[in-house]
Amino acid sequence: MPTDKQTDAPPRHWARFWGVRGSIPTPGHATARYGGNTTCLEVRIQDQIVIIDAGSGISPLGSTLIDEFGASPLNLTLLNTHTHWDHIQGFPFFIPAYIKNNRIRVLGRDPKPDSLKSIFKIQMDGNHCFPVPLEAMQCEITFEHLEPEGQTHFQLGDISITTCPTNHPGGCLAYRIDAADSSLVFLSDHETEGQDEERIVNFIKNTDILIADTQYTADEAAKRRGWGHGCSKGVISLALNAGAKSLYMTHHDPSHNDDFIDGMLADARKMVPLSSNLKVFSATEREKISF
Ligand SMILES: [Zn+2]
Ligand SMILES: [Zn+2]
Repeated sequence: MPTDKQTDAPPRHWARFWGVRGSIPTPGHATARYGGNTTCLEVRIQDQIVIIDAGSGISPLGSTLIDEFGASPLNLTLLNTHTHWDHIQGFPFFIPAYIKNNRIRVLGRDPKPDSLKSIFKIQMDGNHCFPVPLEAMQCEITFEHLEPEGQTHFQLGDISITTCPTNHPGGCLAYRIDAADSSLVFLSDHETEGQDEERIVNFIKNTDILIADTQYTADEAAKRRGWGHGCSKGVISLALNAGAKSLYMTHHDPSHNDDFIDGMLADARKMVPLSSNLKVFSATEREKISF
């Protein structure tokens, strides 16, 4: 008897947004639809669970992973773009890190080797956001330094991961995740003005999903040169030149409420020429996308 398994099967690869806000968590009724948590993305690809950034969104992700896996050990890879607070502040509240037999491999940039761990440690030193030290985390946790300026390439099982420095004060890494049949690029935080566009376009080339920092409108970006964030105009230019299939705008500004982001999305879609197949969305907390 023929089955419809092929169409019923879940997508092989998917990602879920757990935090789409830039700079500072922004709870409240005005941001409830897109969400107020800072940056965190869960990526499920083949048998890997990859997390990009540990903003406040990693806290609800942790609870969801525990609900899904129960007492089974978790093997997680956390890719950190950079250590600004909005990309690490949720880590002390990530419950799977306190559970023995779980493994967390943290990889990220910092100008000095070994300083990635020390920055995660400092935010848990009792003077900052948390009363319990990093050592209280019972999981097996390792920190690996990635080259801050050049591209690094490494494998995670059959998955290929490549980094690319972005245009951001203090530095930041974008990540490209490639499986045999699909790819995703996470490009936050990145100022499109003053960038080496060709270098970024080559990095994004033909990706299925581009998730990119579009914190500002073009007017705001003009007034905030050097702040290290993108605008939809610049990011759409990158996506079109690179032949990306879908663009998800993220790192929403804390001052932008849901209606404002709706307006930014409508404006962004108007910038896509009719001849292009590029699809443009605004990233929404807890939204699951397949690729
Ligand atoms: Zn940020
Ligand atoms: Zn930043």
